[in-house]
Amino acid sequence: MPRKRPGALLAQQTPRFAWSLPPDRIHGLSARTSVAIDRVERLSGDYYIYPGATDRALRQYRAFLQPPGRRPLYPQEETCSCRGCSFYDVRHARDVLAEIVRQLPPRPRAELERQVRVLDARYVERTLPDPFATHRQWRSDLWWRRRLAGSPEAG
Ligand SMILES: [Zn+2]
Repeated sequence: MPRKRPGALLAQQTPRFAWSLPPDRIHGLSARTSVAIDRVERLSGDYYIYPGATDRALRQYRAFLQPPGRRPLYPQEETCSCRGCSFYDVRHARDVLAEIVRQLPPRPRAELERQVRVLDARYVERTLPDPFATHRQWRSDLWWRRRLAGSPEAG
């Protein structure tokens, strides 16, 4: 008898009802809000919004603000525009959060907004305003894009 391919094995082990299992709870958010977010992510027609995108956005936002101390932080341009790499630019993570917040029903929206506001306050503290943002930043109507950014070489 031929050895089973890994895919076949996985299919055998995955219960038939796996698709209906609730999504993993997002760190810091209630199960209810996590479910509402999962729904928005699944139904979104936006290429950058996909299951897990909100969780990833929150993680990237926290990671950006992680370095201790008072030294200013600079968002970094990401050269690859795919929906995975884009998250390495914290401003993209913030774009995704704004879009999810916009699409959520009132209660889960309020809960996610509370989380985001805490991070926003730190972002404002740790980054510097860019007085020339309107000339050089894409989507400078978004306040989180009006902060001084670093170039990848400058690290
Ligand atoms: Zn990429």
